[in-house]
Amino acid sequence: MYMVVVCYKCGQLLLAKTGQKTRRCPYCEARLVLDKTKKVAHVKTAQEASSVIRALKRKENAGYTRKI
Ligand SMILES: [Zn+2]
Repeated sequence: MYMVVVCYKCGQLLLAKTGQKTRRCPYCEARLVLDKTKKVAHVKTAQEASSVIRALKRKENAGYTRKI
């Protein structure tokens, strides 16, 4: 399982593996504690995650977020 989280430093969407404790943001190099990050989606595969990220980026301007 993967989750899509929002970097609390730069606001970018990124992918993290479920069960991981921390994740380095590839955009701003922040070390994210996954317990404290905002999770926008849970998915099964990395491919699914990238399509979710693409969809969320498209809908960003409409203020779209999915609650879990
Ligand atoms: Zn970041």
